[in-house]
Amino acid sequence: MKTTIIAAIMALSSTLSMAQYREGFDYRVDRFADIEVMRYQVPGFEQLSLQQKTYIYYLTEAALYGRDILFDQNCKYNLLVRQTLELIYTNYKGNREDPEFKALELYLKQVWFGNGIHHHYSTDKFVPQFSKKFFNKQLDKLDDEQLPAGYKMKKKALKQVLEPVIFDPAYLAKRVNQADGEDLVVTSACNMYEGVTQAEVEAYYSRLKKPSDTTPVMWGLNTRVTKHDGRVVEEPYMVDGRYSAAISKIVQYLTKARAFAENDGQRAYIDKLIEFYRTGELKAFDEYSILWVEETAGDVDFINGFIEVYGDPLGMTGSWEGMVNFRNSEASRRSALITANAQYFESNSPVDDRFKKEEVRGVSAKVITAAILAGDSYPSTPIGINLPNSNWIRAQHGSKSVSLENITDAYDGAAAGNGFNEEFAYSDTEVQMMRRHLTIADKLHTDLHECLGHASGKLLPGVDKNALKAYGSTLEEGRADLFALYYLADPKLVELGIFTDPDTYKAEYYKYIMNGLMTQLTRIEPGKDIEESHMRNRKFISEWVLEHGKADNVIELVKRDGKTFVKINDYVKLRNLFGRLLAEVQRIKSTGDYETGRQLVEAYGVKVDPVLHAEVLERYAKLNIAPYKGFVNPVYTLVRDDNDIIVDVKIAYNEDYISQMLRYSRDYSPLTHQ
Ligand code: ZN
Repeated sequence: MKTTIIAAIMALSSTLSMAQYREGFDYRVDRFADIEVMRYQVPGFEQLSLQQKTYIYYLTEAALYGRDILFDQNCKYNLLVRQTLELIYTNYKGNREDPEFKALELYLKQVWFGNGIHHHYSTDKFVPQFSKKFFNKQLDKLDDEQLPAGYKMKKKALKQVLEPVIFDPAYLAKRVNQADGEDLVVTSACNMYEGVTQAEVEAYYSRLKKPSDTTPVMWGLNTRVTKHDGRVVEEPYMVDGRYSAAISKIVQYLTKARAFAENDGQRAYIDKLIEFYRTGELKAFDEYSILWVEETAGDVDFINGFIEVYGDPLGMTGSWEGMVNFRNSEASRRSALITANAQYFESNSPVDDRFKKEEVRGVSAKVITAAILAGDSYPSTPIGINLPNSNWIRAQHGSKSVSLENITDAYDGAAAGNGFNEEFAYSDTEVQMMRRHLTIADKLHTDLHECLGHASGKLLPGVDKNALKAYGSTLEEGRADLFALYYLADPKLVELGIFTDPDTYKAEYYKYIMNGLMTQLTRIEPGKDIEESHMRNRKFISEWVLEHGKADNVIELVKRDGKTFVKINDYVKLRNLFGRLLAEVQRIKSTGDYETGRQLVEAYGVKVDPVLHAEVLERYAKLNIAPYKGFVNPVYTLVRDDNDIIVDVKIAYNEDYISQMLRYSRDYSPLTHQ
């Protein structure tokens, strides 16, 4: 599971520990459409040992080789579109200021950012602003030999395939469709299913799942489901299977990295991961996950595989993701304090005792410094990650929970002074409160959400972990958020010395409600519903506490000069409401109460008030802030001496967005160069 950021609201006077960071660092890289691209620093990299740096270097190579897999998982035409656009873009001889060319460049930037033709967040298809005529004319100028594999000398066929893919808004309109009551498989443009219906997929997996199995594998995690000779079958992603060329490269660089691992535990989980990539066996992936979660001694760690399931409308297949990181020792002390007290938080929560874990096990948490972002984490990046996702492994072996502090600090650095809170907060009191407390309160929210929230609670015996179906992700994120919100106001945090000011939590409460009721609407187009699970969870929580606090006037929506503001009148009662809702959402999860869960999300988390929405969009537009942010990676280079011995790994922050994307497509693209 992952936590994403509400980037625009991180506009704070900075309380960063700037000592670790380079002064005058330029965070801003590019700005287009609804996107801002930034760069992040990797403080502490230079101080690592040569062995650790070399280990990280090869792991970053293994991470970058997965990029094409995600493109193809997101839609079967993505690689073809990207490759064709890049050919046109790099071979273009005309005026690069021509509006049609600029529009093609914009579209290509969007395709890179979305890892395909759909928006990374809304999953809606991008609408190109250049004409069909311009596109076809540029295609005509390419040599037949240059065309993508499978289309060499066949320009006409290529045009026929790409025309609806790029220019018909109704075709492949949505990557992940979550609309209640529709066939989610047929209507989603993602490439995890081909030629099968939702009913066929569900019937297929219900034959495989055994309710009595207490250690089930993650069915469908690494496969595409399709039909052969009328029978539903899975095509595994593996060496000699689907995506073999990319996975072979990943295995090659994991093998190189292995030689520089810090300890036997890391070598053991790398071996198991390679076995999984070679065999496609889900059991090997579970064994890998257990080895991975139990290795906590090393400083360097990584994610490399089919991990999060948000890209699959049925929530089964993992999108390929890579990330390499190392421990931020100083900041890790904060989350260690939280997890050392995990049992206190579990035992004292407002949840019914039947749904609590008697013993919270192995919740490890640390603050990390990201060294590379790849696949599903790139360019848009989570700020917190809690893995593995397998429920029984989490229950029996614990989970690893990390906060990416150099990423949140980059958000802060880039957002300082953008005027957002001044526009949307009720008064200067709230603005000052957020300025003073929000950096630490946000970090604690992430820690509590990831380290404890997702790890808390249990299912009653016999309850299927997928019982909440399409509402599962939203309710799970809501549960983790509620756990975090409830405990942010707990005196324990002051007692532990994490908060020095007992009112710190109010900054997070205010931001959360303001975002859930209003400002997150900046991410939604007029007339659309809320669909993304994290947004739905923030919305249903905020709307629910607004309504259930009405009698006590806990929260008001106040009008002033034609503008709407959130006014929180009673923070203590608000905390109690969070506690009540936490108990209810935990009950829904623990008992698999699909119908109540569905009603909760549909009643509070989906529909948007069009008048308020229009107002928020108008106020936001005046600030000219990009609602979505992402990152370019630093560039790592091996330094060798005259005898070809590695003597150092250099890190550089000088690559721009276009150069990085073109370089990745040139150097890390085994699936298009076949
Ligand atoms: Zn989460």
